[in-house]
Amino acid sequence: MSKYKGRKIGTKKLKPESMMMSYGYDPTLSEGAIKCPIFQTSTFVFKTAEDGKAFFELALGLREKGPTEELGLIYSRLNNPDLEILEDRLTLWDEGDEAAVFQSGMAAITTSLLAFLRPGDVLLHSDPLYGGTDYLIKHYLPQFGIDVVGFPAGVPTSEVTDDVRRRVNERRVPVVLIETPANPTNRLVDIAGTVALARSLGSGGDVPVVMVDNTFLGPLFQHPLKHGADLVLYSATKFLGGHSDVVAGACIGREDVVKRILTLRTFMGTAADPWTGWLLLRSLETLKMRMTAQMKNAQYVAAFLAEHPKVRRVEYLGLLADNDPMYPVYRKQCLAAGSLIAFEIDGGEKEAFAFLNALQLVSLAVSLGGTESLAEHPASMTHADVSPEDRVAMGITPALVRLSVGVEHYEDLIADMEQALGAVGGGRTVTRAKQKTLVR
Ligand SMILES: *Cc1c(COP(=O)(O)O)cnc(C)c1O
Repeated sequence: MSKYKGRKIGTKKLKPESMMMSYGYDPTLSEGAIKCPIFQTSTFVFKTAEDGKAFFELALGLREKGPTEELGLIYSRLNNPDLEILEDRLTLWDEGDEAAVFQSGMAAITTSLLAFLRPGDVLLHSDPLYGGTDYLIKHYLPQFGIDVVGFPAGVPTSEVTDDVRRRVNERRVPVVLIETPANPTNRLVDIAGTVALARSLGSGGDVPVVMVDNTFLGPLFQHPLKHGADLVLYSATKFLGGHSDVVAGACIGREDVVKRILTLRTFMGTAADPWTGWLLLRSLETLKMRMTAQMKNAQYVAAFLAEHPKVRRVEYLGLLADNDPMYPVYRKQCLAAGSLIAFEIDGGEKEAFAFLNALQLVSLAVSLGGTESLAEHPASMTHADVSPEDRVAMGITPALVRLSVGVEHYEDLIADMEQALGAVGGGRTVTRAKQKTLVR
């Protein structure tokens, strides 16, 4: 969608991972330091009053930016060098025009939604959504006169169109929000299909902004902007941060869309702080290595689980059967299967808990995408707030465990799975159709 923004050697465009150590940072502005220092400051000194006036005019949108003019530094709720460099680097993976970083994934989602929604509007969304997002849109947005209409992930868009139209019933839909793969079941939503549906709901220049929560596969293995989406959302707490030591969020996308969100970020005060920005700059240097190693491990672990007699069902993108309705969507929009696995133990909550309590290397915790492997029980933890009927419809059963695979040695992870499954009582041997391993 956007022109190439990165660096070149001759005519060769550099790949994002080659630019993560340097892009957007000028050492001469920081005493030659190879790394960007932490600009732990709340405010910035203007050289002259005229500069201060010019910076405010741009920040408040009182006039257009001159051809060579840059927005000067004012105050750290508006901008800060650590955040600006981080935002420049984030545009490279998803090939967006602009990025904005936030104090959490929820801050990114809330600010992005509120920048576009008004009383009387409808927010169209896929189901399931991350628990926090689900709560926000179903419990808070209706209090502001905003109605929400959901459609299921894992179903071709053509099959939901009529129902969506009927329920939207000609009202204004400024935003379509989807999450794919969906948490925790890895069900997919067709991004290009959703964009086409969104366009058909708009009239004139009033076309909905399509936002994609890309936390599970991005920014390495899925690029929603290339499939027509307008904005990508992240919990940067997950793979972007990658070490389970920072809470942050981000959005990347079309210039006019991000500009509008940035304006609201200034007034809601949801920007990340300099220390968070610095930590994420450090994390981005190893993003590709971490995500690639985690995905390779996940393929071994998923293949092991799929063969185990005490495991009833494995939801892993790398194991999608080629007759699965989601398989064409996977081939079209995902570059690899990622490192999130959901699987059902033979039994119910008791057996799932026995497994989780027996883990020795993998930690029992929510969150995902970090260097260490984490396991949790969606039905009683991350998705406890979803009604039992909805949970069943979404495939979140009492026996389901979600696993985020880290960078440990895969043989050690498999040894841990094996001994923890051994601790699960009973266990009749089940015969299942063998799942095919797909390694791309
Ligand atoms: C964790 C998560 C969020 C929320 O992010 P926070 O950083 O915890 O605020 C949103 N979407 C998805 C898919 C997530 O996994």
